[in-house]
Amino acid sequence: MKPRLSLWPVPRRRWLIPVLVVAAVLALWINVAPVSRLTQPHAAARVAALPPTTPLRAGQRLLILSPHPDDETLCCAGLIQQATQAGASVYVVWLTSGDGFEYDAAYESRAVRPSPADLRALALRRMGEARRAAAALGIPETHLQFLGYPDGGLLHLFLENYASPYTSRTSGLDRVSYPGTRSPGSRYTGQQLEQDLEGAIAAVRPDLVLAPAPQDAHPDHRVTSYLALRLMARRGQLDRVRYWVVHGGLEWPLPKGLQLSQPLLLPPRAPTLDWTRLDLTAPQEQRKLQAVRAYRSQTALLGRFMEAFVRRNELYSRTPLPRGPLSEHAGPAAPP
Ligand SMILES: [Zn+2]
Repeated sequence: MKPRLSLWPVPRRRWLIPVLVVAAVLALWINVAPVSRLTQPHAAARVAALPPTTPLRAGQRLLILSPHPDDETLCCAGLIQQATQAGASVYVVWLTSGDGFEYDAAYESRAVRPSPADLRALALRRMGEARRAAAALGIPETHLQFLGYPDGGLLHLFLENYASPYTSRTSGLDRVSYPGTRSPGSRYTGQQLEQDLEGAIAAVRPDLVLAPAPQDAHPDHRVTSYLALRLMARRGQLDRVRYWVVHGGLEWPLPKGLQLSQPLLLPPRAPTLDWTRLDLTAPQEQRKLQAVRAYRSQTALLGRFMEAFVRRNELYSRTPLPRGPLSEHAGPAAPP
């Protein structure tokens, strides 16, 4: 067969151009505010119409249940500052120390396959960062508690290892081991986690608890939510819980990166919760950014995701479930 002659190079990879176009559109959607707004034209108005979050008063006690070091800052740094400024006391409990984030350990230790020791070193570093972030937000160190359970393992504890001990695949640990934890030496079981969390809540006697919403996509967050609901119900104080989301689905919050002038929109996984809006002042946004940047081990890889939470508002739901019917996935109903 005669070779085909052409003055122009024949495009051999015809799929390349459509793929590049799709990638460019996605990049614009994820990173550029006006493009993100085009896809959800009424989203900002829905946030603007939300009722305000009830402020805390002097003498009240606020407890944040944080699955990992950084969640307390991403969800709640604005409310933490406003509570402190009002004369309320703020406390934080971290259920895990962040020893399951293998990509981060690989980055930090410059190893393709981080060892369990690398993950344990990452946990110690993240605990130090959590203390610095809390200090930036005005929380005294004596108000901080680490439970030290396995990052990425809480669903195993809740479902499979409630009574029998669990060994973390990433850290190699089978018991609470980090210095400064609430019950060092305790085996990794769901029962022990629940008991430690119950003790931490009882020690604070909170007037208000901030917990993840059950719709949050991260399994550790969902277990934190279930435990918060169970334990606060046992205290007869379910009405004292407010719910937040960090892993809200569909690349939320969009656009990525620092967007100080933008509102935090409703998370796609939970658009119909009973949301309230907490507005941040410009200095409170700056202080939140300072606390986010205290997590240097995280911002190297997740900086644009984390800084996207520093916005002119935060969101808190008064209920853990939407008012309407639940879908078969127990997620939110379609937005009205
Ligand atoms: Zn988390």
